[in-house]
This record gives sequence, C-alpha cells and structure tokens, in this order.
Amino acid sequence: MVVIMKPKTSEKDVQKMISYVKDMGLDVMINKGVDCTVLGLLGDTSRIDPDTLMLNVHVDRVMRIAEPFKKASRKFHPDDTVVKVGNVEIGKEGNFTVIAGPCSVESEAQIIEVAEDVKKSGAKLLRGGAYKPRTSPYSFQGLELEGIALLKEAKEKTGLPIVTEIMSPNLVETFVDNVDIIQVGARNMQNFDLLKELGKTTKPILLKRGLSSTIEEWLMSAEYILAGGNPNVILCERGIRTFETYTRNTLDLSAIPAVKRLSHLPVVVDPSHSAGMSWMVEPLSMAAMAVGADGLIIEVHNCPEKALCDGAQSLNPKQFDSLMKKMKGIGANIEKKI
Ligand code: PEP
Ligand code: MN
Repeated sequence: MVVIMKPKTSEKDVQKMISYVKDMGLDVMINKGVDCTVLGLLGDTSRIDPDTLMLNVHVDRVMRIAEPFKKASRKFHPDDTVVKVGNVEIGKEGNFTVIAGPCSVESEAQIIEVAEDVKKSGAKLLRGGAYKPRTSPYSFQGLELEGIALLKEAKEKTGLPIVTEIMSPNLVETFVDNVDIIQVGARNMQNFDLLKELGKTTKPILLKRGLSSTIEEWLMSAEYILAGGNPNVILCERGIRTFETYTRNTLDLSAIPAVKRLSHLPVVVDPSHSAGMSWMVEPLSMAAMAVGADGLIIEVHNCPEKALCDGAQSLNPKQFDSLMKKMKGIGANIEKKI
C-alpha cells in the first residue's frame, strides 16, 4: 500500500503519519520527492482500511498495490487449481466439464429421467435444486431433504455426482454427508456465516457470482472459503444485473479471462440464468467455451413447459443433446470418464 502525502506537508506531520503506521505493526519506506513525500507501507496491509488513512488531513491519496485476496490470487499460487469430484477433474487443462439437470428436483420420475438423458449426452455431473431461493414466498420452495434423497437415488442409478444449492449454515453437515458439490447461489455469495462454515469443510464448493457483485467482491467471497482451509472452490459466472432488461441478466463474458488472470480457481459459466431464455443457451455456451471457461452448468428439464421453476430457460433433453454434439464438434474435450 502506498500513501501519498499532500505537497508542502511539514516534516513533523510526515513523521506523525510514519509513527501512526508503525504503531499498526508495519514498516515504512520513505520516498521524498520534490513536492511531496510518498510512504510505502511494508507488511500485511490486508487489515488496513485505506479510507481510515485518508482521515489524516495531510494525506492526499492512498493506493493498494496488492489485491486484497491472497489465497485466491494467481500471484501466490501460479498453477491452476483442479477440483476433483469422483473421476471428474474440473479446471484441468483441456477439460471442459458440463453439469446439467433441472432447476429444481420435482419428483423421482423427473430427476431420474433427466439424469439418464443428460448422462447419455455427455454431462459429467447432475444438478438439481432441493432448497430454492425464490423471490416470492408463494413460489415453489423445493422438496428440501426429500429432494436431496431423490438426487442421491439419481446418482445411484447413473453414477453422476450431484450438485445442489445450500442456503443455510445449519445445513452444512447434511450437505457434506450427502452431496458431491455444494452450490452457493448468487443471493448467498456474501452470506459470510455460510462461507465460513463451508471453509471448515473440504467439500467442493460452486460459488456463483452475486447478482450485482464486482469481480473483486466475488473473489473475496472465495477467499472466505479458502481462508477457512477449504481449497476446493469452483467459481461460476451466471450473469449480473445491468440496465438491460431484455435478458434476465447480462452474461459478463469478460469476467472469465479476467478471473483466469487474477485467480487460479476454475470458472464455469451458467448460460441458463444469464439470459433467462432457452434459445440463448446455445450461443452463450459456445461463447463461454471460446473465452476459456472450464465448463458449464446448464438447466435441463424433461418438460420445460411444466417446470415448477425456470422453465423458460431450461433446455429439453433433445436440445441439450444437440448442444453437446455441437460442442464436441468444435473440439470441447467433454470428459469421457464415469
Ligand atoms: C439456480 O442455480 O437454480 C439458481 C437459483 O441460480 P442463481 O443463484 O445463479 O440465481
Ligand atoms: Mn434456476
């Protein structure tokens, strides 16, 4: 962190600032210029709020040099993180992992039918919501524990590992015991109590980007999980709020190369929630692959017209199969194992 003192600050006031910084346990490198003095703060500045330093009337500007996320940063961990789930390796160079399934688990017949279909088409993991974060309290809230039991049944039948969303820190143990990847949804990206609990486990976490979160805020949320001791974080770009209303959200494709540069964590794209329309899933999936995503999470329903949640953005199994064929056709190495 660098502190630039205002021009003509007296030596006495510069020294006062230096003592203040040293009292916080940091060292200071002093650089006297013609007009102003620049202080380089040495040590762990992650706990320092630059705005607090600005309270000193002699300070002109404060700049952070290092990103506030350390464990998520590629600078301190240059190699890509590969998250292993059974035989699936998410983030491994050359792999493109597709997770597919309905927005919500609705019945035994539904989840098993979809699981079998997406497996045939090449999906490597099954998604399905059991606890649903709905805008309206009157909408379908999910089958909860019964939904998790049905996902497990689908896993038994197909061998596909299961991904499902958690909303409460109270359920961490249940999820750890029963599911393969725990999804943290956009609405809970900054549920810090939940992130801290997940950090105490070693379960792979799929961390969705918040509705209106910056890339830095998203990586700071990943940092919570990593700082707790859990290295298995997969990021998921699912579109953000912008002024545009034509699409449900705006898929921030630029976030993929940005996050790949800033962090070593794998990143997948959710083209379903990004646009909110099933006909856009295919072009957005192709785009995600082109910008370097490690995979996709796609909503697939056996009968989208009758879905209890997110039918408009869900592909039917035939559409999903056609998308998978196209992706393989352009060279996606959709993992062959399982
Ligand atoms: C979901 O995956 O069904 C979901 C609710 O996603 P998001 O948190 O991205 O809105
Ligand atoms: Mn959904």
